[in-house]
Formats: sequence, structure tokens, C-alpha cells
Amino acid sequence: MSKSDCHPETKALHYRIDNAETRPLATPIYQNSAFTADSPYFYTRKSNPNSVELECALGILENAANVITTTTGMAAIALILQQLRPGDHLVVNKYIYGCSYRLFQRYAHQFNITLTILDLTEQEDRASIPGDVSMVLFETPTNPFLKTIPIREVVDITRDRNPAALVVVDNTWATAIHQNPLDLGAHVSLVSATKYISGHSDVMGGALAVNDDKLADALREARFYSGAIMDPNSAWLLRRSLHTFPLRMREHVRTTKIISDYLLSRSEIERVYISETDKDQLRAYGGIIFFEFKPDLENAYAAFMESLRLFDTGTGMACVSSMIAQPWSGSHASLSDEEKIDMGISRSLVRLCFGLEEPNDLINDLSNAFNALKYE
Ligand code: PLP
Repeated sequence: MSKSDCHPETKALHYRIDNAETRPLATPIYQNSAFTADSPYFYTRKSNPNSVELECALGILENAANVITTTTGMAAIALILQQLRPGDHLVVNKYIYGCSYRLFQRYAHQFNITLTILDLTEQEDRASIPGDVSMVLFETPTNPFLKTIPIREVVDITRDRNPAALVVVDNTWATAIHQNPLDLGAHVSLVSATKYISGHSDVMGGALAVNDDKLADALREARFYSGAIMDPNSAWLLRRSLHTFPLRMREHVRTTKIISDYLLSRSEIERVYISETDKDQLRAYGGIIFFEFKPDLENAYAAFMESLRLFDTGTGMACVSSMIAQPWSGSHASLSDEEKIDMGISRSLVRLCFGLEEPNDLINDLSNAFNALKYE
């Protein structure tokens, strides 16, 4: 029997355009869960053409043999933590995203993992990485304060303590455009793709870049069984965002330089925190900076934020429009007051994240807000 002999409803059901004939300039969205048996794909929970294309493009930027994409940045961190076993020893840096910190605490408690918090920005603390270390995880530059952690040095010390231990760098803020942790010896470069890779506040995702094929297979397996793969629509959107990723980052660098110079000239500011760049690790930097109000403006944040017209506030950042936030009540709100104070986070610490607006418009907006402040 041929399909043409079938009832119109069956024929309509089975009709497909000939995919070999289509020549799309951009890869379409493969919005399907299943593939036929002769396809190199199997099931979208395992892989999908859109996530594979995104992973290959990201792999080029990260200089990685393998990239594993996930639903969110937190899912990427959770997959990495799944590589630990009860009794293992996890070392994390003290300056870290609040939710990551909470996840480490929860995971350590639930699965009998020893958790050590060090200030890896300090040489003394780096030297105290313990002999039984299994994994070291940190962001560089750090959030908050944009301090640098020397990746090569942490890798050397960790390898010296335990050659099997993994060094994981959260590369979300530097991005692969400006920093390549794997080239510096790290085992994993992790990102929240929700931030600069998306750049448009409209999609979530995470990615793990690794050179070691065995580790990549273990991460893919963990993703398959936990169902943490990025969906085709998000992968397609992120792949599209990747086309403008380098251009957007160049503009963030330009704006950040112009505005940090301006902030350094304001008398209301006690200190501006900017990342230090160098040829070896962080080749350029742009996007987020922090500043602290002078002590007599300690409670100025709410009034300052409300005067601004071009800076939105909220959880989003690293996108086309500028954002302002107070780490105390925002990114680090999940920590106790004591934990925040221990990290050096005060109520007068402000985070600015620059979008793609003309820098002079942002300066005018900030100037109006500074000029409207009332001293206590
Ligand atoms: N890593 C860093 C440095 C972050 O700032 C965030 C979120 O803000 C994450 C990971 C988690 O990413 P996501 O929100 O995509 O889960």
C-alpha cells in the first residue's frame, strides 16, 4: 500500500515538506521532542540540532572541545555539583552570587560534602587550599567588588594538592569574549547564558565548557537523567544573540570606561570598584561596576534609584538597557545580614550595569540623580 492510497485525513497527517530541498539561511527551530530512527539525534532531552549548534558556536568562543547547555545558569552549577561524591571537599570563593552560595550550603549539608569558604583573591588563602580538595569553584572577576582571582595559580595549587581535583570558573561576568578559563588550565568554564550571551533579558540558559571528554560525557549523562537540557526555542534565541555578542561586549567596554571615569569625579562617591585587566587573563572588561556612597549618604540608595530615568531596577542585568541594584537587597538578599557584612556588602554599595544607551545620556541621568541627593 502506498501513502497516496490512504484516506485524506491520514494523508494530511503524514504530509511533510522535503527537508532536503529547504535552504534556510539561518537554522530553523527544531521544535520537536523525537526524531526518526535514522536521524543522528535521538530525543531532545539528550540533544537537539539547536542546542548542538549553540554548543559548537560557544565552544569556538570558549576554546573548548565540548559545551553542555542547560536550562539556566543554576542548572549548570547543579550539574557540576553532581560530580562530587559524599565525603568530597568543595572549596568556593567567598565573593560569589548569593544563590550559588546557598546551593553549595544546601548541597554540602544534604550530601555530606565538606564546604570550605576561602577568600581566593588573597594569596594567603589560595595557599591554604586543603590537601583533600575535590573541587574549587569561583567567579572572576568577583561579584561584588570585581576582584581578580588568578586562574593559573589556583589551578597549580589545586593540582599540587590533588591532581584529580577540578577547578571550575564561573565566567558569566568576564564572558568568553574577554577571558578563556580553559586556556589558563581550568577544567570547566561555566556561564549563566541568561546574562551577556542572551543580552536581551528574554531567555534563560546555562553552559559548561570542558576539554576533557570523560568529564563532558559525565555532565551530558547527568543532564540527560536530570532533564536539565536547554529547550530548542531558548537555544535558537541564544544562538541568534551570539551573532551580536562580540559587538555588544565591545560597546559595554566603551561605555564602562567612559562612565567609570565620570563616577571617579563625583564627590558623593567613596569608592568605585572596577575590574583590572591584563594581557594574560582578563583581556578587557565591560558591563557591571560597583560604587559606594560616602558615609553621610549611606541611606541614599532609594532616592538615587528613584531619580534615575534610564536605569531600571530588578533582577535582570547584562542586557541592552541599563540597570541599577543594591546587592544588599538584591543579588545577595538570600544571605543573612552577618554573611553580607562579612563579605563587605553594605547598604551603600550600588551596582550599575550598563546597557547599549549612548554613554552621555547615562551620564546626564546619573548627574541629575546625584545632584538631587540630600545629605543627612
Ligand atoms: N552565576 C552568576 C555569576 C550569576 O550572577 C547567576 C545569576 O545571576 C548565575 C550563575 C545563575 O544563573 P541563572 O540565573 O541563569 O540561573
